[in-house]
Amino acid sequence: MSDISENLELVRERVASAAVRSGKSVELLVVSKTWPSEVVDEAVGAGQVLFGENRLQEAEGKVRALPADLQWHFIGGLQRNKVRKILSLFPVIHSVSSTKLACFIDRVASELELEPKIFLEVNIGAEESKGGYLEDGLRRDLDEILGLENISLRGLMCLPPRVSCAEEARPWFAKLRELQEEMEGRAGVSFPELSMGMSGDFEVAIEEGATIVRVGSAIFGPRLLK
Ligand SMILES: *Cc1c(COP(=O)(O)O)cnc(C)c1O
Repeated sequence: MSDISENLELVRERVASAAVRSGKSVELLVVSKTWPSEVVDEAVGAGQVLFGENRLQEAEGKVRALPADLQWHFIGGLQRNKVRKILSLFPVIHSVSSTKLACFIDRVASELELEPKIFLEVNIGAEESKGGYLEDGLRRDLDEILGLENISLRGLMCLPPRVSCAEEARPWFAKLRELQEEMEGRAGVSFPELSMGMSGDFEVAIEEGATIVRVGSAIFGPRLLK
């Protein structure tokens, strides 16, 4: 077995046992950003179907080069002029960071006759350096977002503040789950997914309710480029 399929197998086992602890089913999104299609293909060979990319241009080549039955999720910063292409390649977007963007995605999705699944990205640590919803903005805009007919709100996503160990991230993950529960109660609608947890902390994220974890370097090794 190559290192990649071995790493993938280990990560899958860790995801599965954390999922037993949380009592939820959890998906593994393999983040293939920066890795060329030949490398990503090793994970495909090991049965992986869900992949995450953060740059349109880089993803286009991989989507073309790899089997058509993979599912690509967009996890990066969204620019309006790229939304059309992103929607045509990615059925799921984890990084919808504002209501203006959600409205624009809805309009383009309607033109393309698509219904993307989206996550709203929450700036859970209210960090200056990051985009995404602040909690109050989400409370204010939720009804408007739920009214958009061409997008399907799946849940919330976060990239918590940088921490020095996984355990330190736990309160941020718990906070995102509490916010989701509050929002679902407020709207009377279910959008039950939580996209949270990366290589260093996905088990903690799962224990706090993640339904999809985004894992790159634990599978492919450290990235040379960012
Ligand atoms: C790169 C990236 C990941 C994966 O990070 P790793 O630490 O390599 O697992 C997850 N989510 C987002 C949004 C990313 O950009």
